[in-house]
Parts: sequence; structure tokens; C-alpha cells
Amino acid sequence: MQVKVLSARFDIPDAHKIEVAKEHGAYATLDKVFAMQPEEVIELVKASGLRGRGGAGFPTGLKWSFLPKNIDKPVYLAVNSDESEPATFKDRYILVRDPHMLIEGIIICCYAIKSHAAYIYIRGEYTTQVKALQAAIDEAYAAGYLGDTIAGKDYKLDVTVHRGAGAYVCGEETALLESIEGRKGQPRSKPPFPAVEGLYGCPTIINNVQSIASLPFILANGSDAYKAYGTEKSPGTHLFGISGLVKKPGMYELPLGLPLLEVIDKVAGGVRDGRKLKGVIPGGSSTPVLTPEEAQTVTLDYESMAAHKTMFGSGGIVVLDDTVDMVKLVENLIYFYHHESCGQCTPCREGLGWMLKIVKKIIRGEGTIADIDLLTELCDNIEMKTVCVLSAACTMSTRSYLNKFRHEFEAYVNGGASAQTAM
Ligand code: NAD
Repeated sequence: MQVKVLSARFDIPDAHKIEVAKEHGAYATLDKVFAMQPEEVIELVKASGLRGRGGAGFPTGLKWSFLPKNIDKPVYLAVNSDESEPATFKDRYILVRDPHMLIEGIIICCYAIKSHAAYIYIRGEYTTQVKALQAAIDEAYAAGYLGDTIAGKDYKLDVTVHRGAGAYVCGEETALLESIEGRKGQPRSKPPFPAVEGLYGCPTIINNVQSIASLPFILANGSDAYKAYGTEKSPGTHLFGISGLVKKPGMYELPLGLPLLEVIDKVAGGVRDGRKLKGVIPGGSSTPVLTPEEAQTVTLDYESMAAHKTMFGSGGIVVLDDTVDMVKLVENLIYFYHHESCGQCTPCREGLGWMLKIVKKIIRGEGTIADIDLLTELCDNIEMKTVCVLSAACTMSTRSYLNKFRHEFEAYVNGGASAQTAM
């Protein structure tokens, strides 16, 4: 089931080094790219159907086409490499194993959007990745793929790595911009979207690492070759991080559209120790949990996830078996979002803390049925009343556990202990 589109060079020894990457095709698309008009590159990316791989799945080419025409301001690219969503660990492979694929993608994107300055905003904790990325950028400058000319073309492009300081919220695109500008990472209201008013008040395209790294394949092979993978509305491949209670957790590149359970069984080896599947988090902690029944019919694409009232997210699949205590999982989840709240909006800052207190009370055996209902009410009152979706990610996800595993919350209320963990 696995394919090698983005991961083609991942297992080649030393493919992070420019000479090895070049032997295996790196930077080979640039002559073709520079022979095209920027608008033609945008059309090709649009035709490929590539969708944003950070989690939202917004069409990449369409986002680029939102840039204002005939502007007299610089245009920036900001590559979102702040991979922080719990259970998401795909971009780090690109950064370490094939950073030149990302740099080639950055050149393609910048040429298409007529930008001469790109920032890569990288998660602060990614120490190994920062080193690997900066080394590759230095190599690209030395080899003439970045700087005043690119591969002999009179086109200037500078790439700057900006390291985060460990705040999850800085992965939100406008908080990311604030952070690059040197301010506290607090999200801005949208609109205006960054494509219109972004970094330093200038039009800015913000794309995820994997989205940008998909460009060399699309330029080299054409949009039909990319669309040969995946489904009609969710074309292409994705790097999936499969974790949790499976026999073979890991990062796997798969075409979109495969049945979730088949992937868990055939790719990740199935649930560990012969246990029973209890639920699946389909795309990182922000995505509502699926029951085993729902998991039977869902496929790994944006449409199927939406039809099952969850989200495709960032490709971080977490498999939960019947030893998992869903109430303690929710406690952990709320703790994370509460801890990471930037504090700008009252419903998020205060509401998540309140939710955490209630779940803790339930776990201590001091909760009531009214507390379970209050949790649901708080989810309703917090959601979509804030500048960004950090708290909504927490409430949408929490609500899914409250709805689908309410009996586990009730068991704590009635029995005062984790009777629901069917060990
Ligand atoms: P969003 O749907 O608000 O936006 C997606 C992108 O489309 C943004 O770049 C936005 O600027 C652009 N866009 C949307 N409408 C536009 C318009 N009318 N004009 C111009 N541009 C427009 O989603 P979001 O808040 O950026 O991201 C949410 C997702 O992030 C969640 O689904 C979650 O899965 C994911 N996420 C990922 C990570 C990670 O580590 N990869 C971390 C947290 C969250």
C-alpha cells in the first residue's frame, strides 16, 4: 500500500547532502520551472489538486491565486514547519532526510508567487531538524541554488530559518507571522487573510512543509501524475504518522483514499497484543475521535473524514485499544490545550482551565452527571468565540469523547473509579 513520491529519497544514505540529492534528481525541475511563466506554475499546481498538508486541506494553488495583482509591495513565503500537533510527526522526516526537496519546492513556490524572500518557521524543539535544514540551506547557497541567482537564472531568492520558542499556537499562521516579526505569538483576526496582508503588512503565502515539498514531483511529472494517486477530490499522497497501540507504529507514505482499518492492519500491523480496537484519532489531537464502527467505513481522505463528522487533519493517526481510559485521555487533551492557550481570548484562557478542573474532579470520583453536562455546555460556549481555532480544536475533540464514550464519564461519576477500562 505504501508509495514513494515524497519519500523517494528518504532511504538513500546521505540524501540530505546536496551532491547525493542531486544524483537522485534534486533541483532537476528548475530549468523547466524557469521556462514557464509564474502564472503557468500556479495553474499547474491548481490542476494537480494539491491541498494544504498542514491539516486544513485548503487548495494550495487557489491560495496562491488570492495574492493581489499588480502590487507594489514585496511578497513573502512563510513555510510552516512548526509541526506541533500532538501525534503529528511527518514534516520532520522531510527536514532531516530530504531537506533539498523542501528547498527546491520553496524555489518553485517563490518563482510562482514572485517572491524573493522565504522564511521557514521551525518548531523550537526540532534541534536536529534545524541543524539539518540550515546545513542544507548553506549547501544550496554555496551551489548557486539560493542567493542572487538561482541555477544560473537571474532570479534572487533568500531563505531564512526562524526558530520558534516552543509555543504550539505559533503554528497558527498569523501567530507565526507575529512571532517572525518579533512579537508575542498571538493570532490575528482573519480577514484579512495573510495572502492579502501578512508578514510586515505585505502579501504572504503560508504553506506547510509537506505541501511545499510536494511541488518538485508535480513540476517534474505533471498534474496528472500526481492525480494518479488518491481520490478525485483528495488527490496525491500523504505522509501518515501512525502511533498508539499498534504493532508497527511509524511514518508511512500512502495515497489518499485508503480504508482506515486496512491501513491500521496491513501497514501498522494491527492492534497490539491481540487487544480490541476502541477508537481512532484520525489526524492529530484536534480531530474528533472515531468509534470502531465508524472506523470501518472511513477512508483516508478529506471528504470521507468530513462525512464521518471528523477531519482529515495532519495525518497523525492514533490507535486506541480497550485498555485506554477515555476520561484520562480527555484530561490529557484539555491539559495540553489549556497549557498552550496564548491567553488572548477569555473563552479559551478561562474556559479550558474550567474544563480541566471539571474533568479532574470527575476522575477524583467527586463528579456528578451535571458536571458531564456542564462540560458539554462549556464546549458549546467556547467554540468559535475566539480569534483562532486553538480552543475549538480542544472542544470539538472533547465533545466527540463526551458523545461517543459518555458511559466512561458516567462510570467515574457512579463508581468513582476507572471501572470503564476493560482490562
Ligand atoms: P483554515 O481553514 O482557517 O485556513 C487554511 C488556510 O487557507 C490558511 O492558510 C488560510 O489563510 C487560507 N484561507 C482560508 N480561507 C481563505 C480565503 N478566503 N482567502 C485567502 N486564504 C484563505 O485553517 P487553519 O486554522 O489555518 O488550520 C487548521 C488546521 O490546522 C486544523 O485542521 C489542524 O488539523 C491543523 N493543525 C496542524 C498542526 C500541525 O502541527 N501540522 C497543528 C495545529 C493544527
